[in-house]
Amino acid sequence: MTILVVGAGPAGTRCALRTAARLPGAAVTLLGAEPALPYDRVALSRYLVGEVEQADLVTHSLADLSAAGVLYRPGTGVASIDREERCVVSARGERIRYDRLVLATGSRAVRLPLPGADLPGVVPWRDLAESRAMLQAARDGGAAVVIGGGLLGLEAAAGLSARGMKVTVLHAVGWPMERQLDSDAGALLAQRLRGRGLTLHMPAATAAIEGRERVEAVRLADGTRIPAGLVVMAVGVRPNVDLARAAGLEVNRGIVADAAMRTSDPRILAVGECAEVEGRLIGLVAPALEQAEVAAATLAGDAACWTPRTDAAALKVSGTKVWSAGEVAPADAEAVTLRGGESYRRLWWRGDRLVGAVLYGDTAEAGFFQRLISESVPVACRAEATLGESYCEAA
Ligand SMILES: Cc1cc2nc3c(=O)[nH]c(=O)nc-3n(C[C@H](O)[C@H](O)[C@H](O)COP(=O)(O)OP(=O)(O)OC[C@H]3O[C@@H](n4cnc5c(N)ncnc54)[C@H](O)[C@@H]3O)c2cc1C
Repeated sequence: MTILVVGAGPAGTRCALRTAARLPGAAVTLLGAEPALPYDRVALSRYLVGEVEQADLVTHSLADLSAAGVLYRPGTGVASIDREERCVVSARGERIRYDRLVLATGSRAVRLPLPGADLPGVVPWRDLAESRAMLQAARDGGAAVVIGGGLLGLEAAAGLSARGMKVTVLHAVGWPMERQLDSDAGALLAQRLRGRGLTLHMPAATAAIEGRERVEAVRLADGTRIPAGLVVMAVGVRPNVDLARAAGLEVNRGIVADAAMRTSDPRILAVGECAEVEGRLIGLVAPALEQAEVAAATLAGDAACWTPRTDAAALKVSGTKVWSAGEVAPADAEAVTLRGGESYRRLWWRGDRLVGAVLYGDTAEAGFFQRLISESVPVACRAEATLGESYCEAA
């Protein structure tokens, strides 16, 4: 059996490796558009800030992959799928046959349709090449604007600031990371980031990017002009579905797949950020890897299904610990807050169930709260549970 996996991000690479392990007789080929060896996309933030080198990002060498039974072909972007002939056509026109095809094409960063958004020096941040472009721009210092004050935007800002740039973050909402943090935790984080030298404009409406040959400034709707030699767009991602759509697969926001990761064509599976499983898109690496495992089981003929669990998000490289999981500030839940020194904890309870948590400063209890939220267990000792696992056990 010939199995092709398109996209060598975490989901595609994991799927190829697990499939080769489960089906030793199969020919498994991993096709990646990027020229690099498979690398740790999550660690790009650490690379930008200077905590790891480019070589440390690599997760699998060619030799590792080949020993595991996977033929890796970097720099092989797939341009189309011929479902009748059961082959994919590479950007160079090569036809590559499959019996089963796995689409793991991930997402791309959104480029806001602003005037000037295509100027050189405007980088939507997603991959290694863009990270290198950001580092190149940071080499001479100067000023950078990051559009988007979510997780990714703040990690970009922290990285560029650590590299010596004067960084301004523009965010459309009144506090950073509003999807993960309530306004109080957001205010604490904003204060902390300003203390570390970042300029934050919140709420800010970006009107245009200005420049002749390359970016020179960002203009806000209120007329403010912020000079910048680099503009990073971190305003969200969009699943890469064009390939699947052109091939006539069912596509909604993502490539529609069932819980076994099968698309509308039973010979084609979809995993990771490009997949929409029972109406749900993912945006984190852990569920992408789980889906890859499920797809490998499906390809091997084993029954498996992916079930979503509670997502948790943590901010890296900002010099402060911030973590959140579950629902943030739901109107129908009771909030319990604990503040002490530099730390802040807010939990949301619906009756005796924990439904959401935000931790700022001290994230030691993150695992405990995530378990309570995802297992949705009734908690008799709410007051103690708010203090932490050992208090809850003692109670
Ligand atoms: C800077 C940064 C920090 C992050 N930090 C975190 C974090 O802390 N925690 C977390 O959980 N998540 C984090 N993420 C998100 C995480 O990286 C993604 O959830 C994860 O990479 C999704 O994996 P994927 O394999 O589905 O897609 P991707 O990683 O996007 O991989 C898809 C691959 O497919 C390739 N491809 C696309 N189209 C084609 C084609 N036609 N032919 C061939 N190849 C193709 C792409 O080039 C890409 O290499 C971060 C992301 C970034 C950018």
